[in-house]
Amino acid sequence: MMAEIPTTLRATRAGEALRAVDGLERRLDGEHLPRRPEWDCRTCAQRGTPWPCEPARAALTKAYGENRSGLAMYVGGLLVLAIAEMPTASTADLYERFVAWTR
Ligand SMILES: [Zn+2]
Repeated sequence: MMAEIPTTLRATRAGEALRAVDGLERRLDGEHLPRRPEWDCRTCAQRGTPWPCEPARAALTKAYGENRSGLAMYVGGLLVLAIAEMPTASTADLYERFVAWTR
């Protein structure tokens, strides 16, 4: 799966974000993956459920186990991409949604 990266992202951050997205399918077992660039869940019954939904958070938490900082860094990479793809959303809100729950 090739993902598009907005050209405004610096190359290093873009690479990080791309690797993070590529790793999602394995980490989430192919379920509760985000639809981009809307970043809503493809699996949750309620359309427009913001990603990461509760099942996605649970699966990511399980994938990282004790490694909470690794989890935070991982979703931080996704946050970079989400900010670029949802330019009208508040960065603070996106941080809360993508990263703050990992604490
Ligand atoms: Zn979901």
